[in-house]
Amino acid sequence: MIFEQFFDKTSSTYTYLISSGKGREALIIDPVLEKTNEYLNLLKNLNLKLVKVIDTHIHADHVSGLAELNEKTDCVTVMGEKAQADIVSMYAKDNEKIKIENIELKTIYTPGHTDDSYSFLMGDRVFTGDTLLIKSTGRTDFQNGNPNDQYHSIFNRLLKLPDKTLVYPAHDYKGEKVSTIGEEKKLNPRLQVNSKEQYVTVMNNLKLAHPQLMDVAISANRKGLTLKEINNRNN
Ligand code: FE
Repeated sequence: MIFEQFFDKTSSTYTYLISSGKGREALIIDPVLEKTNEYLNLLKNLNLKLVKVIDTHIHADHVSGLAELNEKTDCVTVMGEKAQADIVSMYAKDNEKIKIENIELKTIYTPGHTDDSYSFLMGDRVFTGDTLLIKSTGRTDFQNGNPNDQYHSIFNRLLKLPDKTLVYPAHDYKGEKVSTIGEEKKLNPRLQVNSKEQYVTVMNNLKLAHPQLMDVAISANRKGLTLKEINNRNN
């Protein structure tokens, strides 16, 4: 299997490229617009055909590469059905299977960070978006975020996966690349709570500043803008 984890320093975003092998179909999760050429180069070098691109949710901290990759490769653009984005060509339901050649991902609806947040389970690993981060969880204070929903998504869905399941989030701010469900159960400070109420109190008292790019990113990601369209907007 080909499994590549990219990191965007500006937004601390992780992007994943997956394929069953050289010359086969590929899928990308959470691409960052400015990194499009990096992805295209790797696809070319490995003779991969990009057929699907997924965003785990509407991102507020970077512009997604969905529209640009769709324009360049004609790939199918996928998001969970609760997302409202003009660029999406395939909406996935909870528990739905997303397939490419020899690879299958199962959608898990995990609202809380936003109401359009989805995780994707692929065999021994799960892509958790901003729902479950390494030793942290995604903020719940905008884009219809809700700490009650997030508690349910984490405790009743993600933490029910086997302990050895690898956790690949959409962001990390401390340089950690991967974790496991078992490790997060034990070591994630936000998950060391005795009740949902306690978790909600923790999340409602984070007092975080809004992301710098928030207004630009959310509107660009809802519309699904390409690099050219963004540049035209800025001129
Ligand atoms: Fe996010």
